[in-house]
Amino acid sequence: MTSILLIYTGGTIGMMEDHQTGALVPFDFQHLEDQVPELKRFDVALSAEAFDEVLDSSDMKVDHWQRIARLIYGRYEEFDGFVILHGTDTMAYTASALSFMLPNIAKPVIITGSQLPIGMIRTDGKENLISSIQLAAMKVKGAPVVREVAIYFGSELYRGNRTYKYSTEDFEAFKSPNHAKLAAAGIHIFFDYNALYRPEGDFLLKEMMDDRVAVLKVVPGLRKEMVKAVLGISNLRGLILETYGSGNAMTDPWFLSLLKESIDSGLSVVNLTQCDRGFVEQGRYETSNALSKMGVIPGGDMTFEAAYTKLMHTLAYYQEQGEIAKKMVEPMAGEMTNYSSLV
Ligand code: ASP
Repeated sequence: MTSILLIYTGGTIGMMEDHQTGALVPFDFQHLEDQVPELKRFDVALSAEAFDEVLDSSDMKVDHWQRIARLIYGRYEEFDGFVILHGTDTMAYTASALSFMLPNIAKPVIITGSQLPIGMIRTDGKENLISSIQLAAMKVKGAPVVREVAIYFGSELYRGNRTYKYSTEDFEAFKSPNHAKLAAAGIHIFFDYNALYRPEGDFLLKEMMDDRVAVLKVVPGLRKEMVKAVLGISNLRGLILETYGSGNAMTDPWFLSLLKESIDSGLSVVNLTQCDRGFVEQGRYETSNALSKMGVIPGGDMTFEAAYTKLMHTLAYYQEQGEIAKKMVEPMAGEMTNYSSLV
């Protein structure tokens, strides 16, 4: 019988209203199990592991990602697939981080949650949970269909490190702007076999992350003292620079020279567009030429969530700036389209 490990970390799916404040608070796994009697009717062997302290995903930290990665790696041989129940707020960050921490995973890791708690009559949690288990259990000729970290939400399956949370309101809360959805679940589940990731190489646990990464969003009129404050953070190793359009930023000499000084002293700067779709193409406009020349790393079509966690991961495994840049422009776990020929 196919075996699935359910990992419950918290999130709206298992939340209940606090009697005093009316706010939603995470609740234990037993509550969730009681609300979904269907779990007992599955023709798969289900086991569950819950975080000691269940979380609103806004409280997720690097050590939580590491805990999940270790759990999956440690029990990899025991199960055919893994389903993680997680809050939607940082789901795309966790999915991205896990895709880098568990390179070449060849079994499904499906992350899901819900917009409405499982105890509410209109909950989207039941369908999300039940279909995620089914997706994690699906095999063709004995091999799992999904061999990557994916997010299932609102009847669609996505590559996790290609997604971001798009809506606080809709049941279709996630988008994957630069990669086709992996599957659509209606009466039947249709997979897009061209979109599915196929790992090559040994499955590893690479759980280290360096969190000395800052974020700077370019806005019209950005003030010098703000840029100085961010670049002046001691021990800073990485920066995500959120730019306009295809990777453009202002050309004020003070801005360019502050950035260049930081890069010359060892900072790895990744250029990421504020647009949802398309990719960074440094040198297409004069306004990104200088960035290219000083060694800013083009972030391609990565989501913010993927770029941020990939930079943390890369900084933990590599020290040399050139090597870090090389790793950042190469796809590591299907998180970016291969644009290396444009670099
Ligand atoms: N704040 C919640 C969380 O991320 C939202 C959700 O689960 O939808 O845990």
